[in-house]
Amino acid sequence: MKEQDIQAIQLLLATPKKIAIIPHRSPDGDAMGSTLGLYHFLLKNNHHPVVISPNEFPDFLAWMPGSETVKIFEKDKKNCTNILEEADLIFTLDFNALHRVGEMENVLNKLKVPFVMIDHHQSPDDYAAVTYSDTSFGSTCEMLYNFIAALGKKSDIDKTIGTCIYTGILTDSGSFRFPKTTGTTHRIIADLIDLGVENSEIPALLYDNSSYDRLQLLGRALQNMKIFPEQKTTYTTLTQDELDHFNHIKGDTEGIVNYGLSIKGIVFTAIFIENTDEKIIKISLRSQGNFDVNLFARAHFNGGGHRNAAGGKSEVSMEETVKKFEDLVSKLKI
Ligand code: 5GP
Ligand code: MN
Repeated sequence: MKEQDIQAIQLLLATPKKIAIIPHRSPDGDAMGSTLGLYHFLLKNNHHPVVISPNEFPDFLAWMPGSETVKIFEKDKKNCTNILEEADLIFTLDFNALHRVGEMENVLNKLKVPFVMIDHHQSPDDYAAVTYSDTSFGSTCEMLYNFIAALGKKSDIDKTIGTCIYTGILTDSGSFRFPKTTGTTHRIIADLIDLGVENSEIPALLYDNSSYDRLQLLGRALQNMKIFPEQKTTYTTLTQDELDHFNHIKGDTEGIVNYGLSIKGIVFTAIFIENTDEKIIKISLRSQGNFDVNLFARAHFNGGGHRNAAGGKSEVSMEETVKKFEDLVSKLKI
């Protein structure tokens, strides 16, 4: 972190403040981990923080410490708008552009108080008084650990804060597999374990928590998978009918996209998930190595993300969306 940013934050946090902390829409482990980790840290430092998620967070994160205090904007717009309007300071975590919060963007755009961004996505928008943005990090949670340490408050990181940080590092690194996982990442993890963070229990809470229906849904997605060996690409689909058939709940499709990369030789994969409520096809893209799915998502599917993990959306039918993808893939030289 830059020295002037550290000083600016220290000044902002010098007196107790009402602080709203915001993850991106459909928060994942890193978004929830970083916002809740920051929540517990600010609480410990006599502030009045509240995490406001744009929409519901997945069930498999409901065990996280403090998750019961999280307000859901899309379920309680009036109350959340009040809290935002009364806040002295806003933190936005794990996203780089205000449109990533959906409808809540309209409220945020009108606020006059300072924003602080902590994020590891490319091309951050310029809306924050302090922008701590660094794409070299594998997770916002690892950045939060650095952020707290840079403020000279490393000793505040306890088992609770550590549990939140551990969760985001674990989930965003694909269980310490992705290339941005460094020796420093592992040293932080080691420190967290020494603080009592349950490093064997947390993965079980996250990953051994499936329903039978979820596994059946995964089975369907695997059966729907198509492969283009020449382009080293796979993709799969889940329609709203299929989601309904398997009594889908939020979070059930998390991680399914990664299976496409587990086939030998495949370096690019996608999943297309129909959402009839939002009238979109939600797209997740993953790659291994140099193929940049962030650029692909930005260029063709109104999205973004990172080089090896990105997403986007399509507003035409599943058939048309998949056709467009197949046409693009047929021209790829990977
Ligand atoms: P996921 O596929 O897990 O939803 O997202 C993978 C990565 O891409 C995450 O870093 C996420 O923030 C980013 N991402 C997913 N969907 C979108 C989108 O619609 N727009 C942008 N800009 N980024 C996205
Ligand atoms: Mn993240």
